[in-house]
Amino acid sequence: MTKIVTYKEGRLDKYYIPALLIGLKVTLKQFYKTLFLGQSTTINYPEEKREYSQRFRGEHFISVDPAKTENCTACYLCQTVCPADCITIVAGERPPEENPYGVKKEKRPVSFDIDALRCCFCGFCEEACPKDAIKLSRNYELATLNRETAVYDLDHLKREVKGRG
Ligand code: SF4
Ligand code: SF4
Repeated sequence: MTKIVTYKEGRLDKYYIPALLIGLKVTLKQFYKTLFLGQSTTINYPEEKREYSQRFRGEHFISVDPAKTENCTACYLCQTVCPADCITIVAGERPPEENPYGVKKEKRPVSFDIDALRCCFCGFCEEACPKDAIKLSRNYELATLNRETAVYDLDHLKREVKGRG
């Protein structure tokens, strides 16, 4: 059974004084720790960088085989599952010499675009992919100077990523 705790308003509450003093106490405590104990909670980014979780989901990439051919078979599963509707794939026929699976007429993505400005980094595309082709790296430095470069094309997605980036 859920216990409901109700806050009983005191006489000073309507002047916001207790809340103000509690807030000031937190601020002064952090100020003291930063100034005298060297325990700052901020870092000098970009010179210093935080260590993120192994499960962090950042910029996408598409895995390639040793011949640098993308593992994607243009099945559209990632595009279908994407809740932000930010993946656009155009499929084409893969030439037999480029076929990493030895199956004739295997499809390949002629173009594969991901609009990072719409993406919510949910990871559904990675989970849905039957070829382990699309993955999310740990790169969180996604700032760009214009909207065009925030749309990742196939060449960008096939870049070399070590581990999970
Ligand atoms: S991470 Fe989510 S929102 Fe982003 S492209 Fe993949 S499925 Fe779409
Ligand atoms: S990345 Fe995976 S899910 Fe998306 S089209 Fe290619 S093979 Fe299919």
